[in-house]
Amino acid sequence: MSDDEISNDGYDQALDAIENGEPYALECPEGHQSMPPRQVCPECGASDLEEVEIPLSGELLSYNVTYVPTPDFGDDVPFVLGVAEFDDVRLTGRVQADAEDVEVGSAVEVGLGESETTGRPLVTFDLA
Ligand SMILES: [Zn+2]
Repeated sequence: MSDDEISNDGYDQALDAIENGEPYALECPEGHQSMPPRQVCPECGASDLEEVEIPLSGELLSYNVTYVPTPDFGDDVPFVLGVAEFDDVRLTGRVQADAEDVEVGSAVEVGLGESETTGRPLVTFDLA
């Protein structure tokens, strides 16, 4: 478990970029975008990925409300977990709103928050 920080390195860098207001994705020569950490494009397997900026604002594609957490999120429930699209890349994040205020198609802004349970950083979506 002590290697956790090392194996999460690419992800942590991506979170830092979000916190700095400069989120990025990895793009392969075919233009497929994905979130770090990645070694190869998940769609076509290309290995020469480069970082590209993605917009701060996206559109919520789906969401669900979590009532039964994994142990790392025991103090956080209930919370809304959403998938939003930013250009061509989809991110999963915590929607910072009550479930009844959340709709598919909502404009969201990506940011960085932390788990109330562990204090670890996580991707957040604020309703725009
Ligand atoms: Zn690709």
